[in-house]
Amino acid sequence: MTSFKKTARLLLPICLTISGLSLHAQRMRYTFEKGLMGSPFKLVFYAQSDSIARVAANNAFKRVEELNEIMSDYRDGSEINRLSATSGSGKWVPVSKDLFDILAISQDISAKTRGAFDATLGPVVQMWRRATRKGIFPPGDEIRDALGRTGYAKMKMDAKTRSVMLVQKGMRLDIGGLGKGYAAEEAIKELKKLGITSAMMDAGGKIVLTGPPPGARGWNINVSNGSDSLKALQLSNVALATSGPTYRYMEHNGVRYSHIVDPKTGIGLLFHVRTTVISPDGTVADALATAFSVAGIEKSKKYLRKFKGSKVWLVEKQGDRIAEWNMLD
Ligand code: ADP
Ligand code: MG
Repeated sequence: MTSFKKTARLLLPICLTISGLSLHAQRMRYTFEKGLMGSPFKLVFYAQSDSIARVAANNAFKRVEELNEIMSDYRDGSEINRLSATSGSGKWVPVSKDLFDILAISQDISAKTRGAFDATLGPVVQMWRRATRKGIFPPGDEIRDALGRTGYAKMKMDAKTRSVMLVQKGMRLDIGGLGKGYAAEEAIKELKKLGITSAMMDAGGKIVLTGPPPGARGWNINVSNGSDSLKALQLSNVALATSGPTYRYMEHNGVRYSHIVDPKTGIGLLFHVRTTVISPDGTVADALATAFSVAGIEKSKKYLRKFKGSKVWLVEKQGDRIAEWNMLD
């Protein structure tokens, strides 16, 4: 069920002047929340009536559900899992525009981060999910076998026929690293279609913002470094994504492994604390938060030059000390 809350009537009237006539339009603040893609999705926006607000929120959440049908790695019948099932067949498989676009962004980011981001990590991610469930650390040969079926260079894409080929048998795609960012972007597009220009979509920590609330300079967003430090930012027309092992990790012999995996070793990150990225686009922000978590501070500084308009706050463990790279100040 979508929960619906209207927090204030008549917040700030905006005044439009059209050829000498004065037209007063009052926008109210609406909040909707729904559990989607395994996370709470929160939508806040300003609209002129309850009926517009309801239609807008319904459309936005419907769009996310539609995307989940495509991208979910939990459903056998999802488009991405059906594509993975064709791996090694030597066939080019036509895919939907959404899936093609997501995979194209993913491949671009893989290339620009030397594979720190990799959407072909499915076999490794699945192995760790099983291991976490059973509480057993996978043996070395199992890790090697899963890792042997990964590698973004083994995914070929053809824009002319909008097709994908997964070269090796046993490959499996996983777009958990950027799917929520893409969904947040697409949800915001649904609002724009209805003329809603002041909105925030928070898709489980992947946030897309349009214009500021009426009368404000921006949306108030609090970003944490994963422990004590909190930063209050005022932002608009930008996306912000955070990745951290705060909720999802595996613990073995007292060591915590992040659910973000290093594609070189097939093992969850040990040194990762938290990464926040601000970018013009939600999909890119989400993917970069994951990629920079893997790459760490020094390499990320190099990779960042390839992403115009992006900023990073990266916190990592270097032995016993915590290191920070903070561009958000
Ligand atoms: P969330 O915030 O929802 O946990 P992230 O954006 O931090 O998501 O991405 C983590 C997810 O991305 C993992 O659960 C896994 O599905 C996938 N993943 C793990 N490691 C990588 C990687 N190196 N590159 C791309 N995707 C990854
Ligand atoms: Mg991510």
